[in-house]
Amino acid sequence: MEPWEWDEATWRGKVEKVRAGRSLKPKTWKNGARCAVALSFDADHETNELRDGGESIGRLSWGQYGTRVGVPRILETLKAADVPATFFVPAVAALLHPDEQKRVIAEGHEIGLHGWIHEVNTRVPPEKERELHLRAADTLEKITGVRAVGMRTPSWDFSAVTLEIERELGLVYDSSLMADDDPYELVENGEPTGMVELPVEWIRDDAVYFNMNRFTDLRPYTAPPAVLDIFKREFDRAYKEGGLFLLTMHPHVSGYRSRIFILEELIQHIKSHDDVWFGTHADIARFAKDNADV
Ligand SMILES: [Zn+2]
Repeated sequence: MEPWEWDEATWRGKVEKVRAGRSLKPKTWKNGARCAVALSFDADHETNELRDGGESIGRLSWGQYGTRVGVPRILETLKAADVPATFFVPAVAALLHPDEQKRVIAEGHEIGLHGWIHEVNTRVPPEKERELHLRAADTLEKITGVRAVGMRTPSWDFSAVTLEIERELGLVYDSSLMADDDPYELVENGEPTGMVELPVEWIRDDAVYFNMNRFTDLRPYTAPPAVLDIFKREFDRAYKEGGLFLLTMHPHVSGYRSRIFILEELIQHIKSHDDVWFGTHADIARFAKDNADV
């Protein structure tokens, strides 16, 4: 049946499946802070090539750069600035690089779920998707010693059963959807779920501006200083509105010598403001849930 032939129950049902419910934006953030800052790094590494069944040695080496150079450079930047962050890691990337995960946890950061091998959820059969997320949760826990409380779905792709699986896993938050700038509660088929959404946006994602594929038309299209400018403006407005500034970056995209200044200067810019709280996604989700301005 074509979309224009659907009855109201059909199109309404699709929209209502997973929806933004009440806002979880608190009046003020932790310790009276005016703005919350959630920095995240999706440490996909080699899974960006593996997920499509690829075996390009060249593209796998690009993934290896993420773990060999990108993550250490990012961790040094975060340590120098003394700010926490959240790393979302596919289980296969964690199995390939267990020492990296241990270091990330030891340096005070959070690790969240990011699929098994960066699979696209809507292309995986529902029962298989469930098995992969459950296996990924156990795998990360075994490596890090910490049970993940949040998920960022690979490629922000969210299937009809993803939320159900997140709820089964007892997660505190998801960070893959885009219905607001500030945290909100996810509603499934009209029922509030208690699950916190920390919304993402392609605008606040480095990969959109810098991605490159030699064999397609995909090329970087924004200069690094312009990307910094966009991120600063996103923060400035979040600060003005007393909201959340959440940023997604990738070690194999922003870990380069000519790009790491974006993270460094962005943190400097944010720190030049009073009353800003840098938190892990888990800390921010829990705070938002407990302190929503209802
Ligand atoms: Zn990813």
